[in-house]
Amino acid sequence: MMPPRFPLGIFPTPLLEAPRLAKALGGPRIFIKRDDMTGFGFGGNKVRGLEFYLADALAKDADVIVTGAGPQSNHVRATAAAARVAGLEVVAVIHDSRPADTQGNLLLDELLGAQIRFTNNPDRALVDSRIGEVADELRRAGRRPYVIPRGGASALGALGYIEFVRELGLQLQALGVAPTRLVLATGSCGTQAGILAGAKIYGAPYRVFGVTVSRPVEECVGRIARIAGEAARLAGSDIEIAANDVVVRDGFIGPGYGIPTPECAETIRLVARTEGLFLDPTYTGKGMAGLLAEIRAGGIAPNETIVFLHTGGEPGLFAHSEIKDLTS
Ligand SMILES: *Cc1c(COP(=O)(O)O)cnc(C)c1O
Repeated sequence: MMPPRFPLGIFPTPLLEAPRLAKALGGPRIFIKRDDMTGFGFGGNKVRGLEFYLADALAKDADVIVTGAGPQSNHVRATAAAARVAGLEVVAVIHDSRPADTQGNLLLDELLGAQIRFTNNPDRALVDSRIGEVADELRRAGRRPYVIPRGGASALGALGYIEFVRELGLQLQALGVAPTRLVLATGSCGTQAGILAGAKIYGAPYRVFGVTVSRPVEECVGRIARIAGEAARLAGSDIEIAANDVVVRDGFIGPGYGIPTPECAETIRLVARTEGLFLDPTYTGKGMAGLLAEIRAGGIAPNETIVFLHTGGEPGLFAHSEIKDLTS
């Protein structure tokens, strides 16, 4: 029933226990699902959805992909890499003006030959209308653009995370563990929507906990419920997702999206120093900070088992050297 995929990633991604981190916290068993290791174009969660987008773009005979987000967008970098492999060009609308230093994901976008259009405006929502304008402009020039929404969040992109639930379910079964929660960082909401739909379709034992790193909770809940329902329908399921099926935690955004907080920096250092594992400053550092706060507040019993989803984003570290000594 699933729509076709254009293969990009290497699956299953590893599921690894983090015993030294768990010991440092005196808390539950923690497993980390390594979707930073999806194995294509520096990895990360966007690769799963891009397999569906690229298949659709090729079926529609597109010759250029148009998308957008911020200068350190993992989505834009992974999309540019995927477009190249599929033989397509890519235009990326990036909010604000060109940063002084071409680092991290922006450097990778340049190496991939993405055509970058800065909006010269800090308003992130403006990217959405600009993407449409760029696509119109390309059409008038005789091109065949295929638009992927900012952050890659739509029902089609979320299908990758319905499949993810099945993949993770087989790994958990092989290990003989039944986690109570799956924790992830939530941005444009497609990942949590796909997991929520998948968890319901496959009867997963865990509850899905998102930690928002950008949008207000109410906005996330609405988006997640809507995208989850649409994705389930696309996958051929008639399950319903209600707003009260969606759990999103607030309190870890700090001054804003993409601005590392002291808790995020401390979390990145703790995980690096216990597990030799790197989180990112925009998403997973804040998402894991949310999990650690919940454990420290006694909200998760020591006999529980948790899965943390590492959604990638490590290239962003190189654009944020300030996290080296950021402390609360
Ligand atoms: C995009 C992204 C997320 C959030 O995923 P959404 O589907 O946008 O909610 C989390 N982590 C990383 C590293 C990302 O690039």
